[in-house]
Formats: sequence, C-alpha cells, structure tokens
Amino acid sequence: EASKSTNEFIAETKQLLDIVANSLYSDREVFLRELISNSSDALEKLRFLQVAGKEMEDPDIPLQITISPDGKNKLTIEDTGIGMDYGEMVEYLGTIARSSSKTFLEEMEKRGESKNADSVIGRFGVGFYSSFMVANLVEVYSKNWKTGSKCYHWSSTGVGGYNIEETTSKHANTSRGTKIILHLKDTADEFSSNTRIKSIITKYSNFVQFPIYISGKKINIQDPIWLTDPKVTKTEDNKEFYKFLTGDTLSPLFTFHFRLDMPISINAVFYVPNIPYLASTLQNREPMPKVSLYSRRVLIQDQTTQIIPYWMRFVVGVVDSEDIPLNLSREMLQNNPLLLRMKQILTSRIIRAIEGEMESNKTNYSMLFRAIGLSLREGIMHIDDKRGREEIASLLMFESSKRPEDTEITLNDYFKNMRPLQEEIFYLVSPNRAGADNSPYTEQLMEKDIEILYSYSQHEDTIMPYLNEYKGKKIISVEEYTNKNLNIVKSKSVEGKALKEYTNWFENILGKAKVKKVEISNNLKKHPSMLMIPDLTKTRQFLQNTPEIEN
Ligand code: ADP
Ligand code: MG
Repeated sequence: EASKSTNEFIAETKQLLDIVANSLYSDREVFLRELISNSSDALEKLRFLQVAGKEMEDPDIPLQITISPDGKNKLTIEDTGIGMDYGEMVEYLGTIARSSSKTFLEEMEKRGESKNADSVIGRFGVGFYSSFMVANLVEVYSKNWKTGSKCYHWSSTGVGGYNIEETTSKHANTSRGTKIILHLKDTADEFSSNTRIKSIITKYSNFVQFPIYISGKKINIQDPIWLTDPKVTKTEDNKEFYKFLTGDTLSPLFTFHFRLDMPISINAVFYVPNIPYLASTLQNREPMPKVSLYSRRVLIQDQTTQIIPYWMRFVVGVVDSEDIPLNLSREMLQNNPLLLRMKQILTSRIIRAIEGEMESNKTNYSMLFRAIGLSLREGIMHIDDKRGREEIASLLMFESSKRPEDTEITLNDYFKNMRPLQEEIFYLVSPNRAGADNSPYTEQLMEKDIEILYSYSQHEDTIMPYLNEYKGKKIISVEEYTNKNLNIVKSKSVEGKALKEYTNWFENILGKAKVKKVEISNNLKKHPSMLMIPDLTKTRQFLQNTPEIEN
C-alpha cells in the first residue's frame, strides 16, 4: 500500500466562488470598480496591439467604456477592448484566480518593459466574480480583437457553473470588445440608478485612462495630475484638481507635487487649503487628513489615516503607488512595514517642502504658518524622535526682542544672531508684544544684548520645554533663566540688614497666603519688583486663564 505520494490541491470552485462573492469585499459597490478596471485593462492591451501594428477587428472605433444603468434592475458595462474568444472565456471567466493581466505583466517584465505596463490594473484573477455580490445573473457578450472573430455569450447565476455559446442575438456586440449585463438582485437595484453609478465611478474610477460614458456624456476626469511631471504641471491644473478634491472655490495656499522611485515608487500631490476651508476642517476636528491612496489610478482608500499622520490634517491630496501591498479585495493591509515607511517618507517630504516655501517665499510662508502653526506644534508633541521634532521646530516662527513688531524669525535665524559663547536659546511667552517688551524677566538678557524669541501662543509653554533643545543648544524660558541667575542681597550684609524692615513690612501686607518670602535683589534696573515662582511657565498658564489675579 502506498504510504507516500505527491498530490495536487483540489479547489472546490463553487465554494471558492461563494467566498469571493460573499466574504471578500467589505463594500459591495466595489464590483463596479472591478468591472471598469477589467475594461480598462482590455483597452490598454488593445492599445499595445495597435502600437505593435497588428491587424484587427474595427481598427478605427474609439477606445472607451460605456455604462448603462436601466433605472430598473439591469446594469450594462461595455468596452471596445481586446475581447475574449471561446477559449479565453473558459480560461479567464471559468477559472478563479486565473488572470490574463498578470500573464501580460509578467511577459512585459521578461522583456524589460514593465514600465510600459504600469497602467494594467488586474493581477489576482478574482475581481470579475465580485459581480455576483450584486447580480443573480451575469451575461457576458464578447468578440475578440482578431479579424473575423465571432461573438460569444457567457452566462452564469454564480451557482452550478456557466454556459458559453456562439451568438448572433440582438444583444450581441456589433463590434470588437466586451459587454457585461448584470441582472441585479432585488436587494441591489440601487445599482441601476444613474446617480448612484455616477458617484461610484467618480469615487473609484475617476482617473481611469479611458473615457467612461453614461448616456453619451463623459464622466471621468481621466488625467490624474499626480502622474504628470511636477516640472510641467500648470498652476491652473493644480487649482482645478484642488477644487475637485475640496470643493473650495479659492486657490490652495500651497501646492506640493512630487515623484519618487526609490525606495518606494510614489507619485503624490498635496495641497494646503485656503484659510476658510482649513479653519473649518481643523475646527471641526475632522477625523483624518483628506489624503486618498490610489494604486495604478484606481482608488484604494479614501481619506486614509495610514499614510499621513493625524497632526498633518492640514493637507489634502492624493498618493499613488504601485508598490503598496494589496490583498485580494484591493484593500490595504494594516500595519504593513511598507506603509509605515511610506508614512515616514511622506511626512518628511511634506515638512521639507514647507521648509522650501519658507526659504523661498517668506511672505507666503507667514500666511501659511498662521494657518498651520498650531498643527506643527501638535506635530512636535507627537513625534518621538529628536531629529523629527527639530525638523518641525525649524518651521516655527517667532517675533523677537531685537526686531520690530510683525517681523518673524525662525530658530535658524535666531542661531545666526547668537552672541559669541551664547549656549542657550531664550524665549518668552506673553499675551502680546507690549507684555513681552515690558517683562521684568527680560532685563538681564537685554542688558547683555542677547536676543529673546517672543511667542504669543500659550502652547509654546508646553512645546518649548518638550523640545528642550535645538541643534545642540538648550532652550530655556527667560523666567527660568532669571530664576537661576537671581542675585539676592544677603540679609546678613549691611545693606541687607538695613532693608530687612522694608521686606518684613511687605511680607506682612501681602500675607503668607500670597508670598512665601520677599527679598531684595539687584537684578532689576527698570522694574521695581518681580514675582518669582518655582515653576513659572506652569503658573503663567494659570495666571493667563485667571484675569483677576493677573491684575
Ligand atoms: P484580473 O483583472 O485580476 O485579471 P478578473 O477576475 O477581474 O481578474 O478578470 C479575470 C480575467 O478575465 C482577466 O484577466 C481578463 O483576462 C478577463 N476579462 C475580464 N473582463 C474582461 C474584459 N472586459 N475584456 C476582456 N477580458 C476580460
Ligand atoms: Mg480585474
């Protein structure tokens, strides 16, 4: 008796089909994305044959996709692509996971021409069967591209097999290509509606490279701006695309368009929206950045959180990558190392682009900073590596003790103006300019001709201590500096003894509940007195929120 043998796995096709149709996709509307992608692939393959000069059926008909929802219970998807003959129907529509697109890609790769095939979408060989999520009968009429081909009719209810026959019925295509008729389930009659179908196409297939028509009207944009060369993309086109993404009627504050081949292929375009749009997005604490992920022009995920950090929700845009790992249903894999890498790359690219704007267009940057400053600060608090934090910190803008009001500088500008031997970066948080200029804590530093950064954002009290240092220099508040450099006149000295009565008097008037101690110092020249509190920054936050005490 044989105790050893090599066997083939046997697939229970019906069972497999049931899995594809009922459990693979999280959203059934994607069936249309799959069928349109197949049509696009068939058209792309035809284009290759045309370029190669092959003789074919109906050489002059336009390459296009036509979708006809009947308003009742049928949906038809038609293309003028390569079509299928009898054998191809058996092979590709009768074998789950058999994909001619995958074979096509592999052949191109062998010839070293994979770049030319980067618009071919299919590869898993399951998408077609997603039509059974919404249809209880699927009919396919197809006529192969070769001259003299006949039309074949494939039909299946998704259970118990399929039929193929040569046909001359009135439904048969009159020309080359494929026509798919879905007889919709009762529970899926929404997909016979014009508006519903249009919105699905706009969502997933807006950038498919062949025109898609409904009732004679082209409905897809077709040209994805992110796949064009950033160097030649027109401002006008960016404006248009930004409008498409946001519905905003103003122009974006900032546009960033880039391409990358290594280590991951990325084509991306990002916009920082104009102020009113941005303000409402940030105020409403909208859940995520409006960045969508595409792969080969087809939408994979809308407004994803996986490729842009939450604090960067001031950008909208599109990222297209051929390299993202997709599972069978074209959904993204969670926590994939490649996605994490992509997130890092995109984050630092966007930061660098903003930095470039800061260096080349200061006026525009000031406006941009007012719009995104808070988010950048949030970013500093969220990034746990020091380099990343400093990268964002380099984008912060401050006023300064040495420059006129409304003149903003960065930490790098501050560096250029440091005194010889100056080891620290000084900052002061104040409600406004006058408060900063008149603060007693700045006296000593001003006397030494040391510049002080002014911030009127309370958040800086949290950000700066967290940042702690920048390019090797410690960041400290002027209060902390003053605290460390207090020159108290000793009460045992002659001078101190003489003033003791005075300080005692003060302590009595204010009372122990208000002050612990009153001392004489010779730090101050312009101000009669100042309050010293061990943790001044925290206390000031408290004081700022309590006007009664401040006065
Ligand atoms: P994939 O697109 O990943 O290859 P599908 O299940 O979507 O898998 O389709 C399987 C195969 O069926 C395709 O590779 C192609 O050979 C064939 N096919 C599907 N739709 C069409 C079409 N509209 N025109 C020509 N061939 C098609
Ligand atoms: Mg497919």
